[in-house]
Amino acid sequence: MSGPRVRFCPSPTGFFHVGSARTALFNWLLARQTPGGVFILRIEDTDAQRDREEWVEGIYAAMAWLGLTLDEGPFRQSDNLAAHDSAAQKLRRSGYLYYCDCTPAQVEERKGPGQPPGYDGFCRDRGLERSTTTALRFRIPREGVTVVHDVIRGEVEFVNSLIDDFVVVRSSGIVLYALANVTDDRHDRISHVIRGEEHLANAPKQMMLWEALNKATGDVVPVPVYAHLPLLVNEQRKKLSKRRDPVATESYRDQGYLPEAFVNYLALLGWSPRGDEEIVPLSTLIEQFRLEDVSHSPAFFDVKKLRHMNGEYVRALTPDAFIKVSAPWVRPWGCDWRPSDREPAWSEDQFSAALYAKVAPLVQERVATLGEIPDMVEFFFVEDLRYDEPSFAKVITNDPVGRSLIEGAILRYERLTTWEATPLHEVVQELGDEHGLALRKAQAPIRCAVTGTLVGPPLFESLEYLGRKRTIQRLRYALARSG
Ligand code: GLU
Repeated sequence: MSGPRVRFCPSPTGFFHVGSARTALFNWLLARQTPGGVFILRIEDTDAQRDREEWVEGIYAAMAWLGLTLDEGPFRQSDNLAAHDSAAQKLRRSGYLYYCDCTPAQVEERKGPGQPPGYDGFCRDRGLERSTTTALRFRIPREGVTVVHDVIRGEVEFVNSLIDDFVVVRSSGIVLYALANVTDDRHDRISHVIRGEEHLANAPKQMMLWEALNKATGDVVPVPVYAHLPLLVNEQRKKLSKRRDPVATESYRDQGYLPEAFVNYLALLGWSPRGDEEIVPLSTLIEQFRLEDVSHSPAFFDVKKLRHMNGEYVRALTPDAFIKVSAPWVRPWGCDWRPSDREPAWSEDQFSAALYAKVAPLVQERVATLGEIPDMVEFFFVEDLRYDEPSFAKVITNDPVGRSLIEGAILRYERLTTWEATPLHEVVQELGDEHGLALRKAQAPIRCAVTGTLVGPPLFESLEYLGRKRTIQRLRYALARSG
């Protein structure tokens, strides 16, 4: 028995939306869980006004990042224009389509109050011929209902009289989405159409086109199983919007989300694995995913949860794997890929792989995304520190106790026989005790002087790795700068 043949067919009109990534993943999971399953990528690039080649590249890059491997394709819809044309002509010859020369204004004018929206069927029986002003419309049956069998939503009924005689081919000769898409799906013998909820209203029209083509061409292809995935919404339960919400998959890659974490999170948008654990390996997703278990209620795209999940994945990496995956952020030179707009503040000469290897485990515990690493380790690699000025003023310039802690630390650090985290810590503990301060307070001016800010990796290990000379230089400089 052959497995499901599924396709992901984005239009290259913008960034790779997280909803598209979810659609691609659900298709891919279905193909992967069944022996003989086939996953196809088809770029629907027939809208010359809106399509751009860079978005096509973006789709390829995002699919590769997510690890959604193809069995066939990538295909380009624009390679199939002749087939779309031929399908339209066969439908027309069999009477499924008719020519119409109404302008939108004329349709509006004819419409009295209380009429349903859309086209009124004026040209259905006028027997017009092809001309430069005639579009081809589909003749929707006036009677009956069309039932879409949707795995997620059950039987969805559409009353035919409420469906418009929609345009299939523009007067310019351009075959529109509904037919182009169906022609290609038939050609590729697609068994399951899995796509976003916004396409549900297209389903009855496309089913009619499919069945009409079965008759008009004699090539009888079973109508596919439909599955319309739930809408993605933001915290306010509003549909995710390009303008308001962070929806570009590329931006998550650039911020340093791990593809494994991102895929795991996407799988939870409308579905969940068995048991209580939501963090599950890809093999479990493939094994447990069932289209029938996908919910039809809107799914909240929760960036906080995604971030948290990413942090868990980051911490679960081995130290070596962490060093490897963080390379594009800390040492982009020579990496195959580097995040856009995120160059480290240090140069290749200033970077030390040996130092980073020591420091990496300290930050691995503290970051949720890889993009947070550069700020956290910058003080190890640059000579000119960036100071968080309000903090510097608060704990050093305007605080005599802070300055005296720094002076004390300089004196005692110069005399230390071993430059290691434990004695470095003990010195500050002692200084704190002498000033009646808890360690957390006592270390604040030291941290600010050496790292430029009040937050960062564990301080005393950091001082150990930074070395005596640089630490003391920075402590002295901070005193000078505060004066
Ligand atoms: N090109 C359509 C889109 O990007 C595909 C819809 C479908 O899967 O049929 O929304």
